[in-house]
Amino acid sequence: MNTRRDFLRNIGASALMLQLNSLTTFADSSDHHEQPYQGKVLRVAIMGLGGYGTRFAEAMKDCTKAKLVGVISGTTSKIKDWQAKYNIPEKNCYNYDNFDQVKNNPDIDAIYVITPNALHHSQVIRVANAGKHAICEKPMALNAREGQEMIDACKKANVKLLVGYRMHFEPRTLEVIRMRNAGEFGKVMFFQGQCGFKAGDPKQWRLDKALAGGGSMMDIGIYALNGARYMVGEEPVWVTAQETKTDPVKFKDGVDETIQFQLGFASGAVASCLSSYNINHLDRFFLSGDKGFAEMQPSTGYGPIRGRTHQGELTQPVTIHQSVQMDEMADIILTNKKPVVPVNGEEALKDLKIIDAIYQAVKTGKKVSLTT
Ligand code: NAD
Repeated sequence: MNTRRDFLRNIGASALMLQLNSLTTFADSSDHHEQPYQGKVLRVAIMGLGGYGTRFAEAMKDCTKAKLVGVISGTTSKIKDWQAKYNIPEKNCYNYDNFDQVKNNPDIDAIYVITPNALHHSQVIRVANAGKHAICEKPMALNAREGQEMIDACKKANVKLLVGYRMHFEPRTLEVIRMRNAGEFGKVMFFQGQCGFKAGDPKQWRLDKALAGGGSMMDIGIYALNGARYMVGEEPVWVTAQETKTDPVKFKDGVDETIQFQLGFASGAVASCLSSYNINHLDRFFLSGDKGFAEMQPSTGYGPIRGRTHQGELTQPVTIHQSVQMDEMADIILTNKKPVVPVNGEEALKDLKIIDAIYQAVKTGKKVSLTT
């Protein structure tokens, strides 16, 4: 995982200038030649002040178009720490019982839900009912039925629902997508996506089916699945899947340790993917067409993403994924900007439908159609 120092060391001079400019947004910028951002800023509260919430809050310091203004947590001491660290006023602090009251708070525009997977469904629906835009971490929900209910609730409340697909804004990933759209790989034939790490503490929520909704597939395999869709540039029409388990004590019933799955696309392209909670440093994409290829390793970690194509190394700027994601999401919410790869509820629902089918394929041993 890269630190802010690694980031600054790794980016080139122009990217550094861009980043430094963004750092001045909320400060007096009269000494700078570039005009600071003058537009509207999305005011965000984070719900769930755990590992990823903390990483996200730090990254938001570099945002230009979004600002962390509130918190929702069950732990008073954490709220106090965050208030001091990010200058958050008392009136923007809530707990899990009273956060519906955010509907009376005109100083918060959006709530970013960064809690265990099983909580996303009810929390996002409560955010929508409070009239606030919802940003939700992946997986959006435990299954497609829940995902659809979240989409419906946000539509009904006339608020946006976005999901934390940070790779959709990563410059080297976007370059591969640009090349594919320009036909530079020719006809896309094959994708391979391998995503995994060794899950440590057996007591963590990620290994509790009730809170995680499954195992590696929900948490890390979703990157290979979502990557298959944005790298091939097509929706799969069938899936097959197999599960292997070497440690049934740690990975209990319903918590998958390792799943291999295969996707078939209408064009004839196929994808072969691996999701694991028991293999470290598994973070690799490979895309092959009849005129060229792209390979990325690491492909979905926090970066820097590294890769090459048949034309050479990918050299686009290294970014802090979460800072870019939040600025782009602010644009999507405030100005209806359309991202290259969608990050809305419908996009996440597509992943959930395929994950439901992957679990069904594991259970039945049969190929599952995704077209019915
Ligand atoms: P975490 O365990 O570090 O944090 C979870 C937070 O939720 C904690 O602060 C915890 O106190 C709180 N919480 C609230 N109710 C809880 C309950 N009933 N049980 C347990 N915890 C509860 O987990 P995390 O790594 O921050 O993951 C949170 C979400 O973020 C997950 O959906 C995960 O998939 C997602 N995530 C996304 C990325 C990414 O790169 N996009 C990376 C990591 C995690």
